[in-house]
Amino acid sequence: MARVMIVGAGGVGNVVVHKCAAREEFSHILLASRTIDKCHRIAESVSSPKVKIAELDADNVNDTVKLLKEFRPDILINVALPYQDLALMDACLEVGVHYLDTANYEPPDEAKFEYSWQWKYHERYKNAGITAILGCGFDPGVTGIFTAYALKHYFDEIHYLDIVDCNAGNHGQVFATNFNPEINIREITQPGKYYENGTWIEVPSLSIHRPISYPEIGIKESYLLYHEELESLVKHIPTIKRARFWMTFSQSYINHLQVLQNLGLTRIDPIDYEGTKIVPLKFLKALLPEPSSLAENYTGQTSIGCHIRGVKNGKERSYYIYNNCEHTQAYQEVNAQAISYTTGVPAVIGSLMVVNGLWKQPGVFNVEQYDPNPFMELLGPLGLPWHEVIDQPSPFEDN
Ligand code: NDP
Repeated sequence: MARVMIVGAGGVGNVVVHKCAAREEFSHILLASRTIDKCHRIAESVSSPKVKIAELDADNVNDTVKLLKEFRPDILINVALPYQDLALMDACLEVGVHYLDTANYEPPDEAKFEYSWQWKYHERYKNAGITAILGCGFDPGVTGIFTAYALKHYFDEIHYLDIVDCNAGNHGQVFATNFNPEINIREITQPGKYYENGTWIEVPSLSIHRPISYPEIGIKESYLLYHEELESLVKHIPTIKRARFWMTFSQSYINHLQVLQNLGLTRIDPIDYEGTKIVPLKFLKALLPEPSSLAENYTGQTSIGCHIRGVKNGKERSYYIYNNCEHTQAYQEVNAQAISYTTGVPAVIGSLMVVNGLWKQPGVFNVEQYDPNPFMELLGPLGLPWHEVIDQPSPFEDN
């Protein structure tokens, strides 16, 4: 029986609390976040005696250390924002608590996505005998585990990896983001980047796009983005010659984003407004719907997967593995939309891997460094069934 502390009472936090409460492995759950009202609302909807709540500013390491010492969790699940990653890793290190997150650290004043800051904790975590699992949502997260699973079972060498992420849902809002607006807009407005033959190729934001067919959904225009799992996957699977990430956006979404960018509302540097410093993107976030509020009327589904090509026994082969998730099903089960659901469920499974002793090597690790099998066995039963398409023509064979 394990104790878990969950930091962040947003869309993803809600799913993680619901799912942890339903598992007998977790006997005590503490949800801690900046706004206590949001913790109350989640605890009320879960309605389990296992769930307690606390107010916490996770940027303050001393406050987190104090709470960790009081609650004594076995693992901390960080589903606050990427800005909190290092402060929470410091606190876990001080108290000796395992750590797991779903997004890599970003400095608030720079849209820079890389694992370097968190990888630097490896020796300290190893020496302390505790584990940190980085990027254990869906993408990053399941996409890395899908790739590790493909390598373990179907390939001697992986050469080409295309991660494809489609949200074909409709939330009825004119413009909204499916996870934290600030983090989401920072990700999409940065230059696109992909890996080819040992180098990173940077291209203007959303400048490369192509139609891609998604199961049960059909063809959707998909845009090349930089996504953080590309960095860890090409490091840990060095036979990869090319790795790219594609995400669907509607034309309306792109038009809105372009107008917001042209107006300067996506800027992350502070500007002076009548004597007060404000960051335009933070102001915009305050105007946009909370991701969790989209859940009730969301219809349609997401489809996220990996198209992989490489060789097995000297022969070329192709492999596609994916999950489709219905927004309405996620809402019926845990009052969430599918983006929060597909992020929260893998975070819970990753934590189960640690507390069950299956993924417990001390140090800082990305998910593809572990045995994918026990994780894959739990994905379907916990709500994210996956499907494989083996040796069929790949949509990426031409380029
Ligand atoms: P939300 O904005 O809905 O929730 C974030 C929560 O964190 C809010 O409750 C917020 O509190 C809280 N928080 C923010 N700052 C602090 C702080 N200093 N101390 C304590 N709590 C804080 O975001 P989501 O739930 O949509 O996303 C959560 C995380 O999941 C993000 O890091 C996101 O990048 C990641 N993600 C990962 C995905 C993946 O597949 N790997 C996909 C989608 C999201 P308050 O409301 O008071 O501001």
